[in-house]
Amino acid sequence: MKTILSKLFLSIGLIFAIASVSSAKIQVVTTTEDLAAIAREVGGDKAEVTALVKGYQDPHFVDAKPSYLIKLQRADLFIEVGRDLEVGWVPSLLNSARNPDILTGAPGFLDASLRVPILEIPTGQVSRAQGDAHPFGNPHYWMDPKNGEFIADAINEKLSALSPADADYFHSRLEDFTKRLRTALSGWEKKAKELGLTGTQVVTYHKSWSYFAKRFGLEVVDFVEPRPGIPPSPQHIQSLIVKMKTGNIKLMIIDPYFDSKLPQKIAQDVDAKLAVLPTSVGAEKDIRSYFDLFDRQLEIIEQALKEGRK
Ligand SMILES: [Zn+2]
Repeated sequence: MKTILSKLFLSIGLIFAIASVSSAKIQVVTTTEDLAAIAREVGGDKAEVTALVKGYQDPHFVDAKPSYLIKLQRADLFIEVGRDLEVGWVPSLLNSARNPDILTGAPGFLDASLRVPILEIPTGQVSRAQGDAHPFGNPHYWMDPKNGEFIADAINEKLSALSPADADYFHSRLEDFTKRLRTALSGWEKKAKELGLTGTQVVTYHKSWSYFAKRFGLEVVDFVEPRPGIPPSPQHIQSLIVKMKTGNIKLMIIDPYFDSKLPQKIAQDVDAKLAVLPTSVGAEKDIRSYFDLFDRQLEIIEQALKEGRK
């Protein structure tokens, strides 16, 4: 009897020990899987990281689920892409989560765009009523791998502030990630050059490829959407087709969450190749890390260009 009891106490003790170890981890909730992947790089085994949105979803338009609230209620740190990318669904979620620690401006809130050089910041007056989904500049900045450094840097600072005893640990992980990312980036840049991307003109569906294009030398000349978030009219499509034909534009890039029927038809009409490129970690099951994302994007472009040259 005594042995059974002592075994029981031992197991209970073990359960408590495990529970206290897991609760010691900083609970991080991010909107996108890209932010989660970078937060895992920096947080290591001192952070438990969950993303709300799947990598194959459009982060502009998300139907919030009750499970999101449960995750946010337990979070020590909430990280968003910012620049109004998630404005359609995050503010009401944060208000409902009843977790003052992660509200905007609180120590557990991070807008990951803070240190990133943001492109396309509007100079004139922009009204969301006109439908422009990028009123504070282009929010798709994680698609330049260089910006992964700035995101990781901001996450490191937040994690270190939340758990000062682990600051050295986070910092060394940040340094290691940055080093690996820089090495990978020079490889991707080399590959982009080999593929002849510099100066290659492309049409994209949404204005989500600006950072990627700038980094790897592509020139985005037009969009299927007339403005970010606005569906195309027949007139816009017609003028796009004329532009692609006269400009001899042979590559179209679309995000995986848009209906590819219309882009496919346009590509056929103008004899261009259509590349459906993942925009986030998790968009395909083999894209597990921030590094996998750029490997896969360049791989698909390579394939599309090869087929186009046949
Ligand atoms: Zn957008």
